[in-house]
Amino acid sequence: MAPIIELKHIGKSFMVKRGIFSEKKEIKVLDDVNLTIEEGEVLALVGESGCGKTTTAKIIAGIHKPTKGEFLYRGKNVWEMNKEEFERYRRAVQLIHQDPYASLNPTMRVFDTIKAPLLRHKIVEKRKVYDKVLELLEMVDLNPPEEYAFKYPHQLSGGERQRVTIARALTVGPEFIVADEPVSMLDVSIRLSIIELLKDLREKMGVGFLFVTHDLAMAKYFALEGKTAVMYLGKVVEYGNTRDVIDNPLHPYTQVLLKAIPEADPEVTRKKEMPKLRSLDVPSFLNLPKGCRFHTRCPLYMEGFCNKKEPKLRQVSSTRKVSCWLYHDEEGNVKEEAFKGVL
Ligand code: SF4
Repeated sequence: MAPIIELKHIGKSFMVKRGIFSEKKEIKVLDDVNLTIEEGEVLALVGESGCGKTTTAKIIAGIHKPTKGEFLYRGKNVWEMNKEEFERYRRAVQLIHQDPYASLNPTMRVFDTIKAPLLRHKIVEKRKVYDKVLELLEMVDLNPPEEYAFKYPHQLSGGERQRVTIARALTVGPEFIVADEPVSMLDVSIRLSIIELLKDLREKMGVGFLFVTHDLAMAKYFALEGKTAVMYLGKVVEYGNTRDVIDNPLHPYTQVLLKAIPEADPEVTRKKEMPKLRSLDVPSFLNLPKGCRFHTRCPLYMEGFCNKKEPKLRQVSSTRKVSCWLYHDEEGNVKEEAFKGVL
């Protein structure tokens, strides 16, 4: 059976203008992104802000059309689908936005927000809509549902609004959910309860997930049994089982991200040996570095090598792909010596 989601050599460019008199310039925010997500699988997509995670999420949600490559849903190119196929795909793949404040219509009550897709997609008959809305609100732990159903978004807390957006995503019985930093705009105290809710729904409903986050600890918590892809400046630089990627990172960028996570005990954080980045500045998409994109910051940079040619994402073990000259050569031959004591 074809995977539920497949990105093949995806590229995405935008035209930008930096001043009134300047020419429009093309910026490539995604370059040769390849990802496969099987039925019911969870993939955490991790990286710093502006690395292309949200653009990838929007391509999978059908909001952005890729400039290059193919985006396949169950083996079919989404942008070559007929109207009915596209409609089926849009129902099956639902997006949970980062910002629950902006993703709800402030003039609509919770009941109307959830009712609309139920009726539009003919999920239930009109006379059964009320019960279905209450059932969905209960599923996302908004109790008592009768009370929440007739509130407006401004009468809800951030966590409650995010629960409403989750309930809205569940109205159409999705097969795959794209959760784009679903807790990053919420108070720390309620983040865990939303993550627990998503985990619970995933287990009960068996839906696949793309979980976008800049936080590796959160990726590990949500996608421990799944896969993790690490992105840097529009490219996937490491991909594999979450446990392996996070417990045993190979790419220098993944190692830096992990070391940067502060510990609860400030003493432990202070004593942590931080890798020495060559620069703290993240290069701009308008002026990408030659060779490996991470070479201007990489603590393991190899002069005359890393700045010459860009490494491709290569299979370096049965479960891991990495794009770094430390682990493979140009033909993709794995440098066994680099793995001593690593894998
Ligand atoms: Fe660092 Fe070189 Fe690997 Fe890039 S290719 S991550 S610069 S060691």
